[in-house]
Amino acid sequence: MINKYLPYVYFEGKIVPLGKAKVSVTNKTLQYGSGVFSGLRGYYNKEEKTVNVFRIEDHYKRMLDSLKILNARLKLSSKQLADLTIELVKKNKPAANFYIRPFAYCPSEVIAPTLIGNEVFDVAIYMMTMDDYLPVDKGLSVCVSSWNRISDNALPPRGKFSGAYVNSMLARDDAIRAGFNEAVFLSADGHVVEGSAENIFIVRDNVLITPPATADILEGITRKSIIELAGENDIKVEERLIDRTELYIADEIFLTGTAVQVAWVAEVDKRKIGSGKIGPITKKLQKMFFDTVYGKTEKNKNWLTEVVFK
Ligand code: PMP
Repeated sequence: MINKYLPYVYFEGKIVPLGKAKVSVTNKTLQYGSGVFSGLRGYYNKEEKTVNVFRIEDHYKRMLDSLKILNARLKLSSKQLADLTIELVKKNKPAANFYIRPFAYCPSEVIAPTLIGNEVFDVAIYMMTMDDYLPVDKGLSVCVSSWNRISDNALPPRGKFSGAYVNSMLARDDAIRAGFNEAVFLSADGHVVEGSAENIFIVRDNVLITPPATADILEGITRKSIIELAGENDIKVEERLIDRTELYIADEIFLTGTAVQVAWVAEVDKRKIGSGKIGPITKKLQKMFFDTVYGKTEKNKNWLTEVVFK
């Protein structure tokens, strides 16, 4: 994955060149990991020369919800954030697939782990080109992490807090150093939660199973989309706790997320999943997902915001 930052950034209320978007080393969010962020994808359709951003309002709604957990807020609504994002995309004129990173932070420089008196956050939005984050055509080799997932009553995974990604880094880095593509977290009580930055689905006996929203997951927007696409195909979906050993005996496993999109898993802890090839349910949902995001199907067109620029 090669990221190339696009030249313009929304910062302190204006669109400015990337090099001008800087905060101080004394910034409270930098010191205490209290950033709230989002990650959206934009898809470039080469044939049609169209650019579509995926589920923009859902991403901003989740970001504002994360702020609410902190008892913090922005001066902007999700609609205003979406409009600003479209303006920024027009300014950057991407001609390849891209990723948008809105990042809300506390502008205070007072040292103390509290947001009291500094509840109004600033937001910056920047963009980069992004192709596949992990391969979507070759099966992934993943491991169950020895690190447990953080929990709702400690550092809530439902919120997309920058500091929470230390948990992800510990798991992902150990997995990569051990030769795997990605790590899968268990909760402290031993249930499968999610990947370092992806939700997880397994298929057993033609039933699509994913941990529920109350299982210390980030409530993924790709996850929600896959559940909706499965419903359109009469694929039975169960949101329930998953045991570690169910991973080993699943017929199919795939990971979902804005960056990863829909990527299938070929092995977990060196145990081959199903036939070791992409399974039929994964294949079908992956195709539907890509057809949707590239605007190749009329269905679910409302998930896309087309950005037109000359
Ligand atoms: N879980 C975690 C921990 C993540 O960071 C992400 C990526 N945002 C996801 C799941 C997937 O969420 P989404 O589909 O909204 O990108």
